Amino acid sequence: MQSLVVLSGAGMSAESGIPTFRDMGGIWEQYDVTQVASPEAWRANPELVLEFYNQRRKKLFESEPNNGHLILAELEQWFNVQIITQNVDDLHERAGSKQILHLHGELKKARSTGNPNLVYELKHWGLKLGDVCEKGYQLRPHIVWFGEAVEAIGQAQAIASIADIFVVVGTSLNVYPAAGLVHYVRKGVPVFVVDPAKPLLGNNNNVTYITEKASTGLMKLKEMLTPQ
Ligand code: NAD
Repeated sequence: MQSLVVLSGAGMSAESGIPTFRDMGGIWEQYDVTQVASPEAWRANPELVLEFYNQRRKKLFESEPNNGHLILAELEQWFNVQIITQNVDDLHERAGSKQILHLHGELKKARSTGNPNLVYELKHWGLKLGDVCEKGYQLRPHIVWFGEAVEAIGQAQAIASIADIFVVVGTSLNVYPAAGLVHYVRKGVPVFVVDPAKPLLGNNNNVTYITEKASTGLMKLKEMLTPQ
């Protein structure tokens, strides 16, 4: 089976009702990123940080995977599909995809501020000051904040480098190191970009742009890649 590697970003979940960061009406127009998504913010105002992520998590509990997520899960009938996602939602999981690497953390998880190996699944959207791990340390969102290391990047680079087909969907390719993953794709491997905005990909002449939303764009991709 060929390896089909997907790099997904916020646009993947836009049709599920989860706003992207940089599009019109994106989250950062309402909040200053440095006030809610950085270690400095956590030190200065943990309540605001928790509330920001609580609102995102509440929305996620109310959201469902869209057709784009479902098509990626379906493609496992024909390909070894590996998804590298910048998204912190669990919509790929809920659509049925089996191999998912979260680069920027997971919204439905919390981790101990005293021991980063203590990670907990959240059953409810609200995380509060006073919610502690089994060792008594405050829990924080299991999110990679601006300025923190993207620990999964090495694994993501290894996955990108074995791709036989590489698909980029719903990402502006503005956020590094995730945006650099395309450079690990082997020469000659076909790259498909599904995004209404045509993000720039650098020097790669094997790129096919599908300038559509994730749901219709991935349907087209499926038609191109699978027997009809
Ligand atoms: P981004 O906001 O920078 O870019 C979003 C991209 O999605 C744009 O290129 C836009 O044209 C495209 N897009 C918009 N609607 C789309 C649709 N219906 N179908 C397909 N594409 C569509 O997002 P990014 O590149 O992922 O980077 C921003 C950061 O935001 C990431 O680190 C990510 O962790 C975080 N984020 C995650 C979520 C989530 O988990 N769902 C939501 C918002 C932001």
